[in-house]
Amino acid sequence: MEMPSPPMHNIEAVETIIRHMHDSDMGYGGINYPVDFCVGCNLTGVFNEDNCPRCGSANIRRVRRITGYLSTTDRFNDSKLAELKDRVTHR
Ligand SMILES: [Zn+2]
Repeated sequence: MEMPSPPMHNIEAVETIIRHMHDSDMGYGGINYPVDFCVGCNLTGVFNEDNCPRCGSANIRRVRRITGYLSTTDRFNDSKLAELKDRVTHR
């Protein structure tokens, strides 16, 4: 399950997803969402631009989960970056 942003204000959606996973007898399920962090001003969120929307810094750490592990995107190899690019979000 790939979400376009953290479900911080939609706890009901998270519960619905988990209950659906349970009712579908899934052996394993996960909910992924992006987290971006500005090293310049500590702003956290999902930044669609290359720079921080608050302070303009280009020093952004982008945390994603590919093949089970959370990591910043600068540590991804080419195949993990390709998988990240191919992900489709569900709204
Ligand atoms: Zn910033």
